[in-house]
Amino acid sequence: SQAVAQAQRNLEDSDDDLERVVRKTGQSGLVNAYGIPVRPTTAHSAKRSASDRRSLAPSGRPATRGGRGESSFGLAPREKTPPSNLHDKIRVCVRKRPLNSKEKERGDKDIVVATGARSLSVMEPKVKVDLTKYIEESRFVFDEVFSENATNTQVYERTAKPLVEYIFGGGNATCFAYGQTGSGKTYTMLDAHNGLYIQAADDLFAMAARPEHSHLNVHVSFYEIYLTNLYDLLANRAKLNAREDANQNVCIQGLREVLVQSSDDLLSVFEYGNNCRSTGSTGANSDSSRSHAILQISLRDSTSQRGSVIRGKLSFIDLAGNERGADRGDRADKQTMMEGAEINKSLLALKECIRALDLNKKHQPFRQSKLTQVLKDSFLGNSRACMVATISPNTSNSDNTLNTLRYADRVKAMKNSNGPAS
Ligand code: ADP
Ligand code: MG
Repeated sequence: SQAVAQAQRNLEDSDDDLERVVRKTGQSGLVNAYGIPVRPTTAHSAKRSASDRRSLAPSGRPATRGGRGESSFGLAPREKTPPSNLHDKIRVCVRKRPLNSKEKERGDKDIVVATGARSLSVMEPKVKVDLTKYIEESRFVFDEVFSENATNTQVYERTAKPLVEYIFGGGNATCFAYGQTGSGKTYTMLDAHNGLYIQAADDLFAMAARPEHSHLNVHVSFYEIYLTNLYDLLANRAKLNAREDANQNVCIQGLREVLVQSSDDLLSVFEYGNNCRSTGSTGANSDSSRSHAILQISLRDSTSQRGSVIRGKLSFIDLAGNERGADRGDRADKQTMMEGAEINKSLLALKECIRALDLNKKHQPFRQSKLTQVLKDSFLGNSRACMVATISPNTSNSDNTLNTLRYADRVKAMKNSNGPAS
C-alpha cells in the first residue's frame, strides 16, 4: 500500500548524502588484535568503492571534507587535532561502551579503538575474494571521543556541564543521545542516579541558589514521542497535542510541568515518569527503544509582568534506536515498518535542524517531524546542541556502529570551532 511504499522510501532516504562523506583511511602500519596487518581502505563498502576512487584528489590523496577530518595517509599525526571548544554552539561527541559479558562469551571482538581524545577507528575484519584476511579501518574525528573507560561524570564534564551555565544566560540547550538500541543512550542520558540529566541538576540547583537567580524557579516536564503522538510521562501517559500559536511558538497543550526545589525532587519526579515510560499499559509502545524520551528542565521567571516566563531551558533527549528494520527482531509487520519509517524520518529531520542551527539558517526544516516540531525553540538563534552518539564496540554491530558514526559526522555541517556562539 501507499503507507508501506512511503515507509520504504523513508528508510532508503538515509543513504542520500552518503556520497558526500567520503571519509578515507590511511596506511597506518597497524597490526590489529587478530595479528592481521591493517590495509588502507575506504570507510565504505565495496559497492561504494568506485565513487570513492573518483573522489581521490590527483595526488592520490583522498579528499577530506571541510578540514574536520585528519589528513589522509597518516601524514598529519593524529595528536595534532586541537582540543575542541566546550562552548561551541554545536558539539558532536561519540561514546563507546565496553564489550558486555554476553558478547565476550560468544567470542565477539572489540573492533572500535579510541585513538585520541577526538578520534577513533573502526577495524572491520574482512576477507578478500582470494580468501586472504584483512582489516578495513575507518577513521573518524569528532569534538570528543569517550572510550569504554570514560565514566558518566567524565562525559558530563565535556558535554552537558557547559550547557547548564549557558541556560542561565537565557538560552536553550539540548543534549541528545543517538545510537542503536543497546549502545548506551539511556545509560548516558537518563540513568536514574548518574545520567547526564541528574548531574546537570546538581549544578543547576547550585547556580539557581545564587542571589542573582532568586527570581528563577526550576520546572521539569517529561514526555515521549511514539510515532507522531506525544505522551505525558508525568500524567499517566496522557496523550497531548502540540500547537503553533499566532507567533509561531510551538506549545504542547496541557503538558505537565512540575516545580522542583532540589536534585532529589527532580530525581523523584524523573523516577515517577520513567516508571510510567516502561510500564505503559496502552499496548502500543511497550518497547521504549521505539520512542524518543524528552526531559526538559526550565528556568521560569515568576516576577515577570507577563506571568511566569521561561528564561532558559535545558533538554535531555534519549532518542529512539536508530537501527534498521532488519535488526528489530521478528516483528516484520506493518507496525514495525511504520515505527522504523517514523523514527528514520525524525532522525533525518533532526540532523537537518542541527545543521541549520549550526549555519544560522533562517529556514528551519523543523516541520518535517513531530520530534523537531516540538523542539523548535531549541533550534532557533541562540540555542546550543550537544549530541552524544553512542556505539557498541563489537563485530556483529559494526554496520550499526558505522551508520551511527556517519550520521554523527554529518550532523556538524563544517568545522566551526572558532566561530563565536551567536
Ligand atoms: P540504549 O538506551 O542505547 O538501548 P542502554 O543505555 O540501555 O542502551 O545500555 C545497554 C546496556 O549496556 C545496559 O545494561 C547498560 O547498563 C550497559 N551500558 C551502556 N553503556 C555503558 C557504559 N558506558 N559502561 C558500562 N555499561 C554500559
Ligand atoms: Mg534506552
